[in-house]
Amino acid sequence: MITIRIRRLALSVAVLLVGLGLASFLGAAPIQDSATYDLVISGGRVMDPESGLDAVRNVGISDGKIRAISAGPLQARQTIEAKGLVVAPGFIDLHEHGQEPRNYQFQAHDGVTTSLELEAGTNDVTGWYAAREGKSLINFGVSIGHIPVRAQVVAHAQGALGSSATRTSDIEAALHREATPDELDQMKALIETGFKQGALAEGMGINYTPGATRWEIVEMFRLAAKYNAPVHVHLRYAGLVEPETGLNAIEEVIAAAASTGAPLHVVHITSMGLKNTPQLIAMVEGARRRGLDVTTECYPYTAASTGLQTAIFDPGWQKRMGIDYKDVQWTATGERLTTETFDKYRKQGGIVVIHMIPEDAARNAVANPIVMIGSDGMPITGPKVHPRGQGTFSRVLGHYVREEKALDLMTALRKMTLMPAQRLEKRAPVFKDKGRIRVGADADITVFDPGRVIDKATYEEPLRYSEGIQFVLVNGVPVVKDGQLVDGVFPGRAARAPVVQ
Ligand SMILES: [Zn+2]
Repeated sequence: MITIRIRRLALSVAVLLVGLGLASFLGAAPIQDSATYDLVISGGRVMDPESGLDAVRNVGISDGKIRAISAGPLQARQTIEAKGLVVAPGFIDLHEHGQEPRNYQFQAHDGVTTSLELEAGTNDVTGWYAAREGKSLINFGVSIGHIPVRAQVVAHAQGALGSSATRTSDIEAALHREATPDELDQMKALIETGFKQGALAEGMGINYTPGATRWEIVEMFRLAAKYNAPVHVHLRYAGLVEPETGLNAIEEVIAAAASTGAPLHVVHITSMGLKNTPQLIAMVEGARRRGLDVTTECYPYTAASTGLQTAIFDPGWQKRMGIDYKDVQWTATGERLTTETFDKYRKQGGIVVIHMIPEDAARNAVANPIVMIGSDGMPITGPKVHPRGQGTFSRVLGHYVREEKALDLMTALRKMTLMPAQRLEKRAPVFKDKGRIRVGADADITVFDPGRVIDKATYEEPLRYSEGIQFVLVNGVPVVKDGQLVDGVFPGRAARAPVVQ
C-alpha cells in the first residue's frame, strides 16, 4: 500500500509538473510538443534570474505569453534565430521621465520593454494612462507624484508637471513654501485619488520641494503604506557638507519608512551620495537586514541632469555638491556654464547636465547586487541631453559587465528585470508576470549579442541608438528585429495597479 501511495504521489507530481510547463522548462519532457506557436525564439542562451536557468533553449510564444521553454524543437508560424545570442527578460526601467514615442524608440533599442515614470510621476493618473493606451511601442506606467500634486495645491498649477523643465518661478516659490494644514489635506486627498486610479507608486522629490516639512513627508509615507505602494524618493539633500548631506537625507526617509510601514525606494543613489555613495548603500543594506522593505537604484554615468531653475541650484549649490560652473553643461548647446551664462539661463529655464559623480561611486553602485538599474532618462529637450535615457542598459551590459568585469551577466540582468518586477508586484500584480523567462509570463523579451552590446549615446552625441540589442518583443510582438526598429506597431500596455472604483 505504501509503495503504491508513493507511486501515485510521484505520478501526480509529474502530472502537475507537465501541467505547469515545468517539465519542458527542465528540458526533460519526454512528451512531444505538438503545438504550433505564434513565434519561437530558437537556440538562444536563455538566462532567467529567478530560476537561475542559463542554457540553450527554444522559447515558444502565443497570445503574448511565454508558453514553452524547451530543449527540444518547437513548431511556430514565425521563428527568430537566436544562436549565439542571450535571451533575457525584457528590461524594466523604474525611472524614465521621457514618456513620449521618441523616448520609447530609444528605450526599445536599449532593450527596455517596460518604461516607468515613478520619481516625478503625475497628478492625473487616469489621464496619463489614457494618453498612451494603444499608442505605445513599449509598456508604460506612472506614480502619483508629490511634486506635481504639491504644485497643483500650493501654486494652483494645473496640468501634469512630468518634467522639471517646465517650472515657472511661481511654482518654484510655492514649492519653497510650507503648506498650510488645509493644503496638506488637499494634497493627501489627491494622492489617495491617484492610488485609487491605479498609480504604481508614490513619487517624491524632496530636494525639489524644500518647503515640505518633515511631517509632510511622513504624512505622504502614511498614504503609501495604506495602499501598499513603494515611495520612490529623490532625497532632500545631495550634498557633501553637513547638515545638507545625502546621509542625513537618507536617514529622514528610512525613519519615515520604519515608522509608517511604507516600502521605500531611493532613486539614483549615486547622485544623492556622490563620493559618499558606499555609505548610503550601507544604510540601505542595514535597513534591509533589519527587515525593512528598502531598495535603491542607480544609472551607470558620472553626470546627473535636471532643471536649472529648480531648488537644486539655490544659492550655495557649488559648496553643497562640490562642483563649480564649469561642471554644469547646458543641454541646448552643450556649452559649459560661467557665472554670466548660469545667471542668464537660470532666469530663462532649461535642462542641464551636471558632472558631479565620481567614477568610483558609479562603479560601486552598478556592481552592487542590491542596487537596481534605472535610467533616469530625460525628455529630449535639446541636442545635448543626458545620454542615460538612450544607453543605460547597454552601457551596464557592454561597458561594466563585458569590458570592466565589474559584475557578472546574470547579476546585471537580475538588477534590470527581476528586481524591478519584485519591487512593484505587491502593489501591482501585473509585475508577477514580468521580469522572468517563465511559462505563463508576459512575452516581454530582449535578445542581445553579449559580445557586441554597447551604448553609443555620449554627452557629445546623445541621440544615438545602442548596438547589439538584436530582437525586442513586447507582449509577444517584435518591436526591434535584427537590430532595427519595427514601424507601426503599438503592443505596449499599461503597467498599472488595480483601479478602485
Ligand atoms: Zn531625481
